[in-house]
Amino acid sequence: MGSSFVLGSDVSDLSIPLTPTVHRYLFIDRDGTLIEEPADTQQVDSCERLRLLPRVLSVLRWAQEVGGYRLVLITNQDGLGTEAFPEQKFWIIQRLLMDLCASEGVIWYGLHIDRSRNDSPSPYRKPSPIFLLPYVEAGLDIERSFVIGDRRTDMLLAQRLGLRGLWLPNPLHPRDTSLPGAIWVENWQDVLEALKRAVFSTHVVRQTNETNLSVRLTLYGEGRVRVHTGIGFLDHMLTLMAFHAGWDMELVAEGDLHVDAHHTMEDVAIGLGRALYRLLQDKRGLHRYGQDVKGSWRLVPMDEALALVAMDLSGRGLLVWRVALSEAPGGLSVSLWKHFFETLAREAALTLHIQAHGEDAHHTIESIFKGVGRALREALQREAAERILPSTKGTL
Ligand SMILES: [Mg+2]
Repeated sequence: MGSSFVLGSDVSDLSIPLTPTVHRYLFIDRDGTLIEEPADTQQVDSCERLRLLPRVLSVLRWAQEVGGYRLVLITNQDGLGTEAFPEQKFWIIQRLLMDLCASEGVIWYGLHIDRSRNDSPSPYRKPSPIFLLPYVEAGLDIERSFVIGDRRTDMLLAQRLGLRGLWLPNPLHPRDTSLPGAIWVENWQDVLEALKRAVFSTHVVRQTNETNLSVRLTLYGEGRVRVHTGIGFLDHMLTLMAFHAGWDMELVAEGDLHVDAHHTMEDVAIGLGRALYRLLQDKRGLHRYGQDVKGSWRLVPMDEALALVAMDLSGRGLLVWRVALSEAPGGLSVSLWKHFFETLAREAALTLHIQAHGEDAHHTIESIFKGVGRALREALQREAAERILPSTKGTL
């Protein structure tokens, strides 16, 4: 970004520290992105012509409440305020759109409208980033913020801000070229996936003389899970846990199974715990506790076996294990299962209480993994409308 983008700031005094607080933003175009763009006039100038794109409100709400994004609308409205496009026509639609958003809990943090025409652009007209510079100066999470739009100018705006752009299709303006940093998406479901990857995904790689491990973890996923550790029973259990936690996960481990399963089990727990720890750095809005007293998530039956799992995303790794196992399930020792959860709790910095009993050890372990998955799902829920840290101490 060129120096001309630094407005009104005294860059000569380098003793002033840069602001440590950054926020995630979505800078979103309006016509063709939030609402359909009419093919004839390319102007939405009456209520009858207002059509929201599918899923746009639910995705924006997710972005705001779960993703922690601030939403900013930036739009070029050619000739707004002239005879050809009177103010009143625009604001009737705009207010209706804002009301629809508000009715679904979608609140806009900023609104920027440029009224100039393409043939005589103002300095503010997209792809100029001037409107958005105050957000940059106040602290912008470059890695996780996006511009969302349907035209090349939106993607150029992203480029000038040093952000990635999510480029929606518009039959009137085909995406016939690619631009660095522009990601082609087909609809708002794809936007949601891209935001999840940006905010709640991580990749942990761990290589030791005993194990090679790769864990790709995405919270708030679709339950798409692939696990291969070489230990069939562990694969089955981890798949259950990730599915019930609502994660997307790809976990591959190649361990020294010719020795025994200990190193592989331990390193899988380390990798998974570290992935979770990374993704829990922002705990604002989290439920925190993995027990729903109104429901039954913490009590998970598996035929005659029953597991009670309670969890606190406390920042303090601790396992309390009261489990009666009649035999070694999956050919893995009873103490190894305890060690697995002990390691997971320590690396993810969570307090984990597990109590379980059953006649069949397979059932008992299975009820535990499902219970941990369900407890994680509950603890990881966010009510980020308030974005409050769930601790009176002020830290977790
Ligand atoms: Mg547009």
